[in-house]
Amino acid sequence: MKEINKELAQQIVDFGQKMFRAGLVTGTGGNISLRIPGENAFLISPSGMPYEEITADDIVMLDMEGNQIGGKRRPSVEKNMHRMILKARPEFNAVIHTHSTYATAYASLRKPLPVFLDIMACVFGGPVKCAEYARIGSEELAVNAEKAMRGTNVAFLANHGCIGAGRNLEEAYGNVELLEICCKSYFAACCAGVPVLLEEEDIRLTREEVARKYGQKGED
Ligand code: 13P
Ligand code: ZN
Repeated sequence: MKEINKELAQQIVDFGQKMFRAGLVTGTGGNISLRIPGENAFLISPSGMPYEEITADDIVMLDMEGNQIGGKRRPSVEKNMHRMILKARPEFNAVIHTHSTYATAYASLRKPLPVFLDIMACVFGGPVKCAEYARIGSEELAVNAEKAMRGTNVAFLANHGCIGAGRNLEEAYGNVELLEICCKSYFAACCAGVPVLLEEEDIRLTREEVARKYGQKGED
């Protein structure tokens, strides 16, 4: 078994506690993975352990074929879902799966969340798709989730929850957090009336302009 980088493992522990305290998961729900730079491998949270109890020593290391190559715990049952996304998407280094309330409720509708807020265009790049239903921990769920994530960085998991990826854990966390907020807003909007969706052209231009101009490094 290989030695696990404690600093990287600690990042998974910290984000687990963060998502637990933020209420994005309860109990032992959800899971987190992080690619190991320069190695064809990744770290992942252990299966079925309470977030308040997990330490860096509980984190597991897997290779890109799914073999356990480090750590003493059993990996998350969703190891293949994380592995398939990290394998297919070299631009992402971190994946987070949550059961946050509004996103999970929306996932039971098994339909995409349309672009009704401009921030969805900026961050997700378009509508959020729902992975076809497959049972928890199945190979089929991994395949379906990777497919639903294509062209974007988040997806719903039918009747289960949601998943998000990013260049690092901050970004992956921000994406699943934003998805929860969007689902909550959509629910409020639908209670108040019928939300007007953004036009394709506005989605495209918003995405392009914000990528170019937003933040401290953007153009004037
Ligand atoms: P693990 O504890 O095995 O990561 O499973 C939690 C979960 O959310 C399954 O989808
Ligand atoms: Zn789950």
